[in-house]
Amino acid sequence: MTTETIPRILDGKAIAAAIRADVKGDVAELVGAGARQPKLLACLVGDNPASRAYVKSKTKACQEAGVAGEVAHLPADVSEADLAAHIRRWNDDDAVDGILIQLPLPDHLPERAMLDLVVPDKDVDGFHPVNVGRMWLDQEALTPATPTGIKEMLHREEIPLKGSHAVVVGRSAIVGKPMAALLLREHCTVTVCHSRTRDLAAVCRQADILVAAVGRTALVGPDHVKEGAVVIDVGMNRVDDADEVERLYPGNEKRRKRFEKRGYILVGDVDYHHVKPKTAAITPVPGGVGPLTVAQVLANTVKASRRRQGRA
Ligand code: NDP
Repeated sequence: MTTETIPRILDGKAIAAAIRADVKGDVAELVGAGARQPKLLACLVGDNPASRAYVKSKTKACQEAGVAGEVAHLPADVSEADLAAHIRRWNDDDAVDGILIQLPLPDHLPERAMLDLVVPDKDVDGFHPVNVGRMWLDQEALTPATPTGIKEMLHREEIPLKGSHAVVVGRSAIVGKPMAALLLREHCTVTVCHSRTRDLAAVCRQADILVAAVGRTALVGPDHVKEGAVVIDVGMNRVDDADEVERLYPGNEKRRKRFEKRGYILVGDVDYHHVKPKTAAITPVPGGVGPLTVAQVLANTVKASRRRQGRA
């Protein structure tokens, strides 16, 4: 692909809608064959507005796809012992196929210990060490929603993976590491970068597929991107400074109006406006990776349900 080619905008909303439609069809087929309706249990602790919004969007998506969705809303001061008891009860409840503990948990609750209590076959976030281990061993596993959704998007958009050099910026357990594992499984040559990587731009310029999962506004600029690369932006950062908005999106009326309405806009880890012309394909923020995550949680729930009901 050359610079004359217009970059393809990877429409996460449309791809997520297609994944959700597939999930709906899958559920109808499952229930039609006499199986139980899949069920997702989302645990929300406290009143963090962003967490509430995420849980709401996940349960709404459940309803639309025919998956039963229940929210267990626990007070912010729930004790570790009480939360553990709830998780054990959901583990033992045969009607629950997927358990999702919405993060972050309040400071007094040890996140890792709580996540580890979820039995692996209901761990629709794919965070349990057993699922992490299975993923790296190329065994059947529930894998984390965000990178799995990205992999699904790359497949559906027919982006060539085998033999491609994928560079993942970020090594978190939620995005960077599982993204690397899944791309490796797709026969990419994978490089993982992090805060100590020397000459990040030079490493990123080797990428045929560049995934940015950093949490730093527009860290990835044109210098980081090879002509014709596919760029996937996982970042979601709030920008609440008018000059910064203008610098990132010069002359962009839509962004400016959104900023004036809300007082902030969401910007990814990629400097979208300046990077886009160099790419073959790129995800926008918002409307790129975000919607895929929710759709993939549903897909994971149905996958878990199929396996638990012996219908995989
Ligand atoms: P973490 O903070 O857990 O990890 C960030 C990673 O980026 C770390 O590995 C860190 O390196 C690396 N990093 C930080 N600064 C630099 C730098 N200057 N150069 C190179 N690497 C750097 O974040 P997450 O993985 O949880 O999330 C990343 C982003 O993705 C966030 O913006 C988050 O909001 C977003 N996100 C979006 C989702 C979606 O659905 N769209 C879902 C999940 C996350 P080190 O390990 O050395 O500290």
